[in-house]
Amino acid sequence: MNTAKNILKQRIKLYSSVSCLLTSISLFLLLTISTDTYAQKDSGFYARSCGKLPSLAYSMGDDRLGSPKMGYIDSGILFRIVDSSDTWYKVQLAKHRVGFIDKKYTNRIAGFNPKSNYYTGTITAKGTDTCYDIINIALEERLPYKAWMETNPAIIKLEVYGAHTNTNWITQFTTLKEVKDIYYTQTEEDVMQVTIHLKHQQHWGYSLIYQGNHLLLKVKRQPKALLLNKLNIAIDAGHGGTNGGAEGVKTHIAEKDLTLQYAKTLQQALKKLGIKSYLTRTTDTTLEMKDRIITLQQLNPDFLISFHCNSSAIDTVSGSSTYYKHIGFRPLTQTILKRMLELKMKEYGNVGNFNFGLNAPTDFVNCLLEIGFLSNPEEEKKMVNPLFQKKVAQQVIKAINDWLLQCK
Ligand SMILES: [Zn+2]
Repeated sequence: MNTAKNILKQRIKLYSSVSCLLTSISLFLLLTISTDTYAQKDSGFYARSCGKLPSLAYSMGDDRLGSPKMGYIDSGILFRIVDSSDTWYKVQLAKHRVGFIDKKYTNRIAGFNPKSNYYTGTITAKGTDTCYDIINIALEERLPYKAWMETNPAIIKLEVYGAHTNTNWITQFTTLKEVKDIYYTQTEEDVMQVTIHLKHQQHWGYSLIYQGNHLLLKVKRQPKALLLNKLNIAIDAGHGGTNGGAEGVKTHIAEKDLTLQYAKTLQQALKKLGIKSYLTRTTDTTLEMKDRIITLQQLNPDFLISFHCNSSAIDTVSGSSTYYKHIGFRPLTQTILKRMLELKMKEYGNVGNFNFGLNAPTDFVNCLLEIGFLSNPEEEKKMVNPLFQKKVAQQVIKAINDWLLQCK
């Protein structure tokens, strides 16, 4: 990772944005014109989502870690395409909502004749025999959606776009263990918002999939025993194979080799405590981010920790940092950072809303740990030391226990 470099890049971008104000104004006018054109119903065409982990984006922004994700979506979802760039389609999610989807994740449908309104059906919420409560929303079509977490109290919010509520009721079964309350409201003419209150303060994750035209929100329950040895732990060694990551300024060690050492050291430390864990890679192999996500989704861990090492163009920049995207997953990233600082590491911060690939899944709690800066000679010396690596593993274990105590 190269956060400092990225901040610098964003600043440069900001300055260029100011200098390009006139260009922006003309672009804005162009976009306004295209939106107006698009308001004529026949000007667009329809497509369905497809491919490996398609996602919706808020904009076509080209940050180093990809466009700003609204979230992953299922396949077969209906989209009205209203505009396009070389690689992106702009989609009209609802009358006043737009999103962007990479063209490669769409299949154009020829001669599609949409209904004038798509009505919602009943909502049923039931607990399963496994670790989920499932909310089943009957719809007339695979409509686009967005979900997010809120905290204090713990809530999952879901918006279904292009949906018109009917006189629908919500049936809640006594088998529900994590879902406390569900209600919905039509917040806009064609946006249905569902609110799900959780019983516990900690979010343990959720997944959204379509079964036919029924949208299923699978809410993961808090594990019965909040004990480290009862949990499924996944450990990710960042980069690998052809993706070397950053490089040590003195030793020239590749980030991919160092992250694997940290991942294995943590696995060993857990093993000594009789705790099994899963490693996303155990050798120097190239592993795409999406493949890591798909494997992890199938594995269904209680939480994931991903090891990376930072780098900056300025060699005095140093410190440990932890990252999350979804606010409900923040607590673990806070306890890990706190324990890292006990190793006399400087603080580089606890970073939220981060667009890193393994922070994107909502299915399980996840934390990215940037141990320190490989571009800083002193930190590099510390980080390559096997004794320090063992200390980091111990601090991570302590941090997980701190977090579990908070969850109780
Ligand atoms: Zn990295």
